[in-house]
Amino acid sequence: MNIHEYQAKELLAKFGVPVPAGFAALSVEEAVEASKKLPGPLYVVKAQIHAGGRGKGKFKELPAEAKGGVRLAKTEDEVHHAATEMLGNTLVTIQTGDAGKQVNRLYVTDGVDIAKEFYLALLVDRATGRVAFVVSTEGGMDIETVAHDTPEKIHTFAVDPATGFQPHHGRAVAKALGLTGDLAKQAHSLAGKVYDAFLGTDAAQIEINPLAVTDDNKLMVLDAKVGFDSNALFRHKDLMELRDETEEDPAELEASKYDLAYIKLDGDIGCMVNGAGLAMATMDIIKLNGMFPANFLDVGGGATKEKVTAAFKIILGDPNVKGILVNIFGGIMRCDIIADGIVAAAKEVNLSVPLVVRLEGTNVEKGKEILANSGLAIVPANDLGDAAQKIVAEVKKAA
Ligand code: ADP
Ligand code: MG
Repeated sequence: MNIHEYQAKELLAKFGVPVPAGFAALSVEEAVEASKKLPGPLYVVKAQIHAGGRGKGKFKELPAEAKGGVRLAKTEDEVHHAATEMLGNTLVTIQTGDAGKQVNRLYVTDGVDIAKEFYLALLVDRATGRVAFVVSTEGGMDIETVAHDTPEKIHTFAVDPATGFQPHHGRAVAKALGLTGDLAKQAHSLAGKVYDAFLGTDAAQIEINPLAVTDDNKLMVLDAKVGFDSNALFRHKDLMELRDETEEDPAELEASKYDLAYIKLDGDIGCMVNGAGLAMATMDIIKLNGMFPANFLDVGGGATKEKVTAAFKIILGDPNVKGILVNIFGGIMRCDIIADGIVAAAKEVNLSVPLVVRLEGTNVEKGKEILANSGLAIVPANDLGDAAQKIVAEVKKAA
């Protein structure tokens, strides 16, 4: 789960990380009110969407020469103008894709005089299985570009969970940023606090870009992107309240309500499978037969009829789906329950694409019987290979 910049900064501030003052705003009036509460003379009005590259982004509804989603303002009028141009409009950045994202929230924050911009991120390094720092003097720009053009300017090191954050980690961050004296001390302290925030929230990533050195030699977080490990959210009820559902893919959001693991993909064959391993194998074998999966969907071990119906509706809600392959192994879950769910859902949603079902395991005969007697055009399959061949053939036949 990702959160907005202003939420990320409020969270980091709770751990003692220095951030400029600021207020979230849902309307132009609130934006102006926010600026009145700030000292000035410089304000920054920032579009809050779950995507980076806002500064260089473009609004669909505004002329090409209009400014992007991060705007400096010197007066209340300028704050008013920036807020009016942004709210309700669609911001397109390198991270949003062509569709862009509608701006529904703003953050009005203190304008800072920047001497230098750095990059600092914490993430879970899968290779070492540890929390790792990624640090670079090249902040304020796209880190992927830095990694591509000047990889030697990116420093990474992992923290041993047994010892936690140590003074040498702080020194390593300061050194990587070329800082000495008081700024090195600030970097050391800030890195330790960001590390505490990472562990304390079960974060999956904290990306600070830019981490700025101000004209009066203060280190400050000017932009932060924070994402949490969804599997740990159950123990952070306060963080769950930061969720902004308007930022999420509607189908994935619906799936999460039913506790279905669903990820939308680009292919044509909708898949409904139980177990992540079986789901991966099913996707592979569809590819082996020359087509691509439209989604990954794991209905889980103990799926109910309601869950199966919801899964079915989500798959069919994707206009790209030209056929559906159901591949269920009834271990904990009984095949007759699955069959009931499939029949109920197919009737409810008015099935318009070919459906191949492969059932195996507990009560398989009963399940097959339910499907055969349903009066629906369900193509039964005997094994994984047979199922994949059949769905590809059915889709080609229907085209
Ligand atoms: P994004 O990464 O989405 O483009 P940022 O918050 O990083 O958005 O803003 C882009 C640039 O705007 C920053 O690199 C920085 O130069 C400038 N900026 C952002 N916040 C402030 C601020 N509070 N004061 C001064 N400049 C800022
Ligand atoms: Mg940024």
